[in-house]
Amino acid sequence: MPETALHIFNTLSRQKEKFEAINPPFVGLYSCGPTVYNEVHLGNLRTFLTFDIVQRYLTHLGYKVRYVRNITDAGHLTDDADAGEDKIEKRAKLEQLEPMEIVQKYTNSFHEVCAIFNLTPPSIEPTATGHIVEQIQMVKRIIANGFGYESNGSVYFDVKKFMEKHEYGKLSGRNVDDLLEVTRDLSGTSDKRNSYDFALWIKTPEAALQKWDSPWGEGCPGWHLECSAMGTKYLGKQFDIHGGGFDLKFPHHECEIAQSVGADGVTPVRYWMHSNMLTVNGTKMSKSLGNSFLPKELFGGAHPLLEKAYSPMSVRFFMLQSHYRSTLDFSNAALQAAERGFLRLLNSYKTLSKLEHKAGTVDAQELLDVKQLCEAIYANINDDFNTAESIAVLFDMSKKINAYKEGVLSIGTLDAETYELLKTTFTVFFRDILGLDKEEEHDNNVTEGLMNLILELRKQVRANKDFASSDKIRDALNELNIKVKDGKDETTWSIEQ
Ligand code: AMP
Ligand code: ZN
Repeated sequence: MPETALHIFNTLSRQKEKFEAINPPFVGLYSCGPTVYNEVHLGNLRTFLTFDIVQRYLTHLGYKVRYVRNITDAGHLTDDADAGEDKIEKRAKLEQLEPMEIVQKYTNSFHEVCAIFNLTPPSIEPTATGHIVEQIQMVKRIIANGFGYESNGSVYFDVKKFMEKHEYGKLSGRNVDDLLEVTRDLSGTSDKRNSYDFALWIKTPEAALQKWDSPWGEGCPGWHLECSAMGTKYLGKQFDIHGGGFDLKFPHHECEIAQSVGADGVTPVRYWMHSNMLTVNGTKMSKSLGNSFLPKELFGGAHPLLEKAYSPMSVRFFMLQSHYRSTLDFSNAALQAAERGFLRLLNSYKTLSKLEHKAGTVDAQELLDVKQLCEAIYANINDDFNTAESIAVLFDMSKKINAYKEGVLSIGTLDAETYELLKTTFTVFFRDILGLDKEEEHDNNVTEGLMNLILELRKQVRANKDFASSDKIRDALNELNIKVKDGKDETTWSIEQ
C-alpha cells in the first residue's frame, strides 16, 4: 500500500491538494453523464474513463465510494445558452420515436459501450426526468433566497444579485467584466434581466413533448439544475469530488456552484476535477465537427480515419498513457504503438499468474529495485492520478518479469515476500486500478493474429501472381464482413458492423 498520500489537482484552487474525505471512509463522487440523444463518441469516453479511474483507485484505497453519474434526458437545449430545442425531443422527431424511446435506445447503447470498455457502472445513475420534483424544489429555494426570478413562465438565476453576496466565476476564472463583455451583444429580446443570467426553469412551447407542470406553468428544467439537484439528493449538500470534461467548467459547473450556494448556502464540492479533451489533429473531437468516431467503429475499423481495427483494451490503454489533464491527440500511429505496449503488459500479467517463486541467492540490489518500483507506482498514481507515469513503472516491472520468465535473471534473487509484493502490485494496477484485464481481449488477440497470418499468406500468393487465389481469400473474408483494402504499400482490414 502507498507510502505517499493522494493529491488531486483542484480546478477551484488551481493546485494539487492533499485528498481528505469529508466523512471517511465514505467518498461522494459525481460525474456529469451523457446527454442521451445520440451515441457517445470516443472523446466522451475519455472523460468517463477518467472518473472510472478515480472511482477504482479510491475504492482500492479502502474508501466506500458512492459514484453518481447522471443521464441527461431532458433540459439540454440545442443551443447551450438556454435557447433552441430540447436535444432529445429534436432527435425523437427526426427518428419518429417517443422521446423516451430515444432516451432508452441511447442509454442502452451507452451502457454497452461502457461494458465493452470495462468502465465500472456507477452506484447510482439518476435521470433528469426522474428528478423533476427535486429540481422544482431547488428552484423554489433559490427564489425564496432572492437569487431567482420568474419572467414570462420561465425562471432565471439572478447572477448580479448573487454576486452582491457571493463569488461567481471562481471555478472557470471568469470575472464579471469578461462576462459582460462576452454576453453584451447577446442581450435584446430575452426575458432575462441580464444576458448572463441562466435558466433554472424554461417555459416550453405548447406543442412540446418534454414538459412538466410547475408553479410557473408548463416547462422543463434548465440543464445545469439537474446535476445540482441530483448531487444534493444522493451525496448531500457538500460532497467530495465533482468532475466532467474541461468544456463543462463554464457555464455548466459554474452555474452548479451558484445554484447550490443560492439554494442551500453551501459550496457544494470540495475537489473539482476536469478531464482534458481528446483531439484529432489538434481539434476537439466533436460530433458537430464531423471528426468523431464511435467506439464501435474503432473496434470494427470501419471509418475513413482508421487504418485498422483496435481492441477496446488497447484503446483504453492508449487513453491511460496520457495524463487526464493533458489533451490527447488521436492518431493511428499512436494507437498502434499503444497496442504493442499493451500486449507487452498483458503478456507479463499472464506470465505472473503462472510464474512460481523459487528460493535462490537473494540479491540486495534486486530487492531494492523491485521495492522502489512498487513504491514509485503508488507515488505516481497518488500524484493526481498520473496513469501515464504509473504505466511507465509497469513497463519497468514487465522487464523484470520477462527476465525471470526467460531465465535471464533468477527469480531467486528476490525473497518470496518481495516477489509476492511485485506480483500483487503489478496485478492490482493492471487489473483493478487501470482495469485492463477484460476477457474478450483474448479473442481480439486471436482475431488479430489470424488476420495477420491470412494476409501474409495472401501476400505470398500475390507475389506468385496467383491472383485467382488472392481474390478468393478476399471474397471469403468479405463473406465474413471483413473488408480487405489493398493500399499502395500495405494491405489493411476492417470488420464492417
Ligand atoms: P455530453 O454528452 O455532450 O454532455 O458530453 C459528455 C461528457 O463528455 C462531458 O463531460 C464532456 O465534457 C465530455 N466530452 C465531450 N467531448 C469531449 C472530447 N472531445 N474529449 C473529452 N471529453 C469530451
Ligand atoms: Zn452536470
